[in-house]
Amino acid sequence: MTLDIIEESKRLEDSGAGEILDWTFEHFDASKVKMSTSFGADGMALLHMMHSRGHRPKIFTIDTGRLFQETYNVWQKVIDQYGVKIEVYGPDPADLHELVESGGPNMFYQSVENRRKCCEIRKVRPLNKALQDTDVWITALRRDQAPSRATTPILSHSSQYDLLKVCPLVNWSEVNAWEYIRNNGIPYNELHDKGYPTIGCSPCCRPVPPASDRRAGRWWWESGDDKECGIHIEDGKIVRKKKANFVI
Ligand code: SF4
Repeated sequence: MTLDIIEESKRLEDSGAGEILDWTFEHFDASKVKMSTSFGADGMALLHMMHSRGHRPKIFTIDTGRLFQETYNVWQKVIDQYGVKIEVYGPDPADLHELVESGGPNMFYQSVENRRKCCEIRKVRPLNKALQDTDVWITALRRDQAPSRATTPILSHSSQYDLLKVCPLVNWSEVNAWEYIRNNGIPYNELHDKGYPTIGCSPCCRPVPPASDRRAGRWWWESGDDKECGIHIEDGKIVRKKKANFVI
């Protein structure tokens, strides 16, 4: 069967997040579907929703080597509470050695170029490994998280990773995510209670005041509203050949 991804994506705009997940597993084999998580609030809500609806894709995370202890704590809770296996990907030791030896452990503060290099080695390359032999990548992106995410489709063909990217929470707000978490007793990263709206690597995240831009704490020393680590940017680079079972 061939799916017209643009048309299906438009049709799913009227569906809830759970229905989008159901659509995904009706059309694709769960063994070829992967969900990424960094154990943030949205990811935890999505993981719980998927689990409670009986969907069992592979779940993976990227351990950059610079995460908060609180992130490891909630990661452990996910394993204990849901009984799921979390695949772990991380930077190549040789790449990391060269990065730290040439620039120092805090080289990312020195320039945007250095920061992007660190994200490339610690996040983007491991993600490329994680998504090998995968047809569908489920992520917890929301449109209101950042201007760079405002037009994120529910379904899209990722030319960067050559797969179908599914974002069931695009129409959620931060309030929706927290209502779902509290109503369902879902574990979450305790740093959210300490003023961190989003959580990534410890040297590159800090708390923000309640009324401010929710991503202002990410790479706070940089300016501009397009701050991304590179894993959700389509650069047009074709890494592998396009899958045959959907069209764009
Ligand atoms: S968020 Fe910071 S520490 Fe983490 S990979 Fe990017 S630059 Fe490196």
